[in-house]
Amino acid sequence: MSDRKFGFDTQCIHAGQSPDPNTGSRAVPIHQTTAYVFDSADHAASLFNLEAFGNIYTRIMNPTSGVFEERMAALEGGTAALALGSGMAAQMTSILTIMQTGHELVSSSTLYGGTYTQFDVNLREMGINVTFVDPNDPENFRKAITDKTRALYAETVSNPLGNVLDIEAVAKVAQEAGIPLIIDNTFATPYLCRPIEHGANIVVNSATKFICGHGTSIGGVLVDGGNFPWDNGKFPCMTEPSKGYHGIKFYETFGNFGYAIRARVEILRTHGQALSPFNSFLFTQGLETLNLRMDRHCSSALEIAKFLNDHPAVEWVNFAGLPDSPYHELSKKYMPKGAGSIFTFGVKGGIEAGRTLINSVELFSHLVNVGDAKSLIAHPASTTHRQLNEEEQMSAGVTPETVRISVGLETLEDLIWDLDQALAKSQKAKA
Ligand SMILES: *Cc1c(COP(=O)(O)O)cnc(C)c1O
Repeated sequence: MSDRKFGFDTQCIHAGQSPDPNTGSRAVPIHQTTAYVFDSADHAASLFNLEAFGNIYTRIMNPTSGVFEERMAALEGGTAALALGSGMAAQMTSILTIMQTGHELVSSSTLYGGTYTQFDVNLREMGINVTFVDPNDPENFRKAITDKTRALYAETVSNPLGNVLDIEAVAKVAQEAGIPLIIDNTFATPYLCRPIEHGANIVVNSATKFICGHGTSIGGVLVDGGNFPWDNGKFPCMTEPSKGYHGIKFYETFGNFGYAIRARVEILRTHGQALSPFNSFLFTQGLETLNLRMDRHCSSALEIAKFLNDHPAVEWVNFAGLPDSPYHELSKKYMPKGAGSIFTFGVKGGIEAGRTLINSVELFSHLVNVGDAKSLIAHPASTTHRQLNEEEQMSAGVTPETVRISVGLETLEDLIWDLDQALAKSQKAKA
């Protein structure tokens, strides 16, 4: 094919795949195999030496996952990607690829609840200290950096506070400190925001959410921006001979995709958080319609946010898509196509009214997922953020009356009808 640079919509459908040369299969084949036959003993040795690229064992690589990885790298604008067993695995791998005991991470305090616990408990147990900062002022990241800090971490749009990060300002802080910025882009997806274009170095996504799009599979992916100079003296794991991989020097050997290679052969290979090829297939299916689904998710969410904003039973609505949101300007800058479809609101009558609301919806499903074609509703204080104490919940933006919704792809009028009837019931419960 010519060297035309294809548009985002085309890449959603084609990046990383052409018809299978052996079978002519147009769709992405599911390579449900554990291992791959070598051509010869020499061929096997060269694969194990990382001298030739090829398949060895599905824990480390798989052709179906390879399509998903290449497509994600193209969509995020990075050099390479690595598919992993979940979003949690993707973010843990993104950190372990460059951090060891004694290092420090500076992270936004407004995070997915599971991520907060992963950092606050699990990383600390490994001797990696984490400093949480309020991300609304990018200078807070700078103030928390020490000579042991090896990365900054934040979410494009955070859950459930809905704050939008000033990615360029935080990327500048990271660059000046000689450390990478890792961004969790799950709520935006590369369709709404491409953090690497704004200076981020590594992007992680929970593919479980909008990338899958149908609430069927758990998975994650990390994307190497290929734009970080690992030879600045702070990352010997990238520049010194590897103990786990017979003396290979990842940055020298693989250049601007050395980070992704080290993540694959030193972390995924030994920790084993591999993604199933079948799930990779479902994620490539999801990606084919990501652009169309995100447009509809965003437009319906905005209409529902406006409806709730005017509703007498609603105390407040927190959605960056609304002009009165403190994050509206940042949202327009970083997500010009729409502010996503996940947001929170407070129902009048506090926790009791909130519970009645959740018990009364007929179309919205009460569960803890987001980014599904189906509309979802949840009460963060008693579910996703339950492990946090009250003070931590407050700093993450979770109050007792907070209700979170993820607006799906159903008929908009049906969703508004459902919330309206449930809100009416919630107010009767209060009285
Ligand atoms: C769901 C989610 C995760 C974790 O992903 P899993 O696929 O559930 O492991 C991480 N970050 C954000 C923002 C999420 O929404």
